[in-house]
This record gives sequence, structure tokens and C-alpha cells, in this order.
Amino acid sequence: MSVAPSPQSSSNNESAGKQPTGNPPVFSPPGYFDALATRVLEGSPITREEALSILNASDLDVPAILAAGYRIRHHYFANSVQLYFLMSAKSGLCPEDCHYCSQSKVSEAPVPKYNILKRDDLMEAARVAAERGAKTYCLVISARGPNEREMKAVETIVPEIKQKYNLDICACLGLLDDDQAKRLKACGVDRVNHNLNSSESHYAKICTTHTYEDRVQTLRNVRDAGMEMCSGGIIGMGETKEDIVSMAFDLADLGVQSIPVNILNAIDGTPLEGTDAMSAQDALKSLAMFRFVNPDRELRIAGGRELHLRMLQPMGLYVANSLFVGDYLTTKGQAPQADYDMINDLGFDITGSCEEVSIDG
Ligand code: SF4
Repeated sequence: MSVAPSPQSSSNNESAGKQPTGNPPVFSPPGYFDALATRVLEGSPITREEALSILNASDLDVPAILAAGYRIRHHYFANSVQLYFLMSAKSGLCPEDCHYCSQSKVSEAPVPKYNILKRDDLMEAARVAAERGAKTYCLVISARGPNEREMKAVETIVPEIKQKYNLDICACLGLLDDDQAKRLKACGVDRVNHNLNSSESHYAKICTTHTYEDRVQTLRNVRDAGMEMCSGGIIGMGETKEDIVSMAFDLADLGVQSIPVNILNAIDGTPLEGTDAMSAQDALKSLAMFRFVNPDRELRIAGGRELHLRMLQPMGLYVANSLFVGDYLTTKGQAPQADYDMINDLGFDITGSCEEVSIDG
């Protein structure tokens, strides 16, 4: 099935992208995004050019983009929302230089610094995750990759958490070789998070101590070990729209099951301090583009949600189907009750590991 002409191919070039001063934005051709969604639902992937047309669309198109994206989201996930709970099991002290990260060696941000937490702290966090209706407990350490002590700590705690709570475990431990990936699978880790973070061409501008290919190889190791891959990125780091599209397609090619999309919260003291300029509308267009390119994958609005989407947060859930509940690694999230209320007001449901959880009270 063919679709209406894209905003770029429209004879009216004013409809593409941010409008020059003095040129008012105009709507894209009627039905354009809806036709794209129909094609996706019929099993035909959109092209890179079409993905770019979503990012280049006028802000006036945001309602139409979200309405079309919601058709895809609803087809695969109905109105369900999956909640994730982040546990920073080791903070700071990282030898890498990821420019966006407050825990890197080049960051001067005053973040907590501690080595991997003891059993009781990790179990207490699991209790809180379960109490908050989270489906997944994300156990995160700041590291280039796990050392032997950290591997053993994870291998010890994961079976205990899974025995006591109805939680899936996602481990975010940095770069993993194939042996480490197999050990994580053997101890019961369900999924590993390792974000691509940006496009291959932009990667060297945000990190010099490891490469994009290092990250891709970790994901391959995770996949080959039989675990699910959670991988997404951070938008708003000075990348081009083409970079965002490239990352979305790389994630699709890798077959990742879960895609967290962060919107840069440029923390003071990091090299990217002062650069977080992404508008709420552009963030929503990006989230929708990830949904169009990865139609049946879990899409999570991650860090920067409250800061950048503000009052528009609920609109993000028309294309995304997942949130973190509670705080992020080094920044505050909104109160869990505010998330429950938002989901309730949308008429959506929280889905736990095996059953829907109550969001009353
Ligand atoms: S490897 Fe992880 S913890 Fe270390 S600087 Fe990069 S993002 Fe931060």
C-alpha cells in the first residue's frame, strides 16, 4: 500500500522540520502518519526516510503522529503500562568518560560514591520494587564492566530475589564478555540492559574510552547467552535527527526486546552540562518514531521524562508502554503516586510480571 507524500516530498517545503523564523508551521498531508501506521500494522516496515519525516514534522503534527503511533501501540500492548524499578547497586567510581554520565571519571557532579551494596540493601530494594507494582527490578552498577567480586555478588543475590519476589531481573553491569553473559543467564538474570546510547557516527563525540562496536558486541553476547536485550539511548546530546533514526534502526536490526529512551538531563558538572535543549514536542516525535520502527517492542520513557515532557508526560504513553517508577540513577523521578494517577487518568492499566496490580490508594 502506498502512503501519502511525505512532508519532505510535499511540494510545500514549509511543512518539513522546524520552521524558519517568519514561516508559520503547517500540517503534513492529511492521513500521512495514519497511512504509515496502517502499513506497519500490515507488516511492512517504514523506511529511514519515513522515520526521518516523523522527526522533521511540524509541531502541529504531534497529535496526528501520536494518534497514529497509538494504533500500533494498542495493537501490540493494548493499554498496558509496565513499570520498572531502578536500583543503583554501585554508584560513581567509573573509569569511563561517557560525557552524559554524572558517574564518569570526567564528571564533577557531586554523586554518591559507593561500591556494590550488601545483600540486605539489595533485598530491601527488591521488596520496594514489588510493593510499587514493578514488573522488573533493574540492578545497575557504574562500571566499564563487572569485576569478579561484582559478578559473584550478582550471582548470589539474583536467585534469592527471584525466589522471594515475583520480579524479573534486568542487570546493567557494563560491557560483558561471552563468559560473563553465560554466567548471568545461569544465575537467573532475565534480561541485560546495555544502551547503544546514540548512533554509531555520533558515538565518539560522547565517549572515547569504549566504542559503539564494544556495546554492540555486548548485546550480541547477551543474545547468544539466551537472555533478552534491553537497549536504547539518550536523545538530545547534540546528535542529528538522522542519528536518532540510525539508532532506532540499529536496535531493530539487533532485535532488542526492550527500548528505554532517555531525554538528556544534562547534569551540572558533566561535559554535556547546559546542552539539554530538546523540546517536549521533539521528544514526543522521537518516542513515536521509535514505536513506528520497533512496533512490537517494549518502549520505555526513561530518564528526563519529568524534566522535558512536563505536563505532556501522559501523551508519551500513547506510543510508549513502559515507565520507570521512582527515582533514576542519580536524579529524582516524580513520586510513584503521580505515575499511578497519570496511568489511571489515561484509562490505562499497570501490568505486573504475571498479573495486573492495583494502582488504587
Ligand atoms: S560506563 Fe556507565 S557508569 Fe560508566 S561513565 Fe559510562 S554510562 Fe556512566
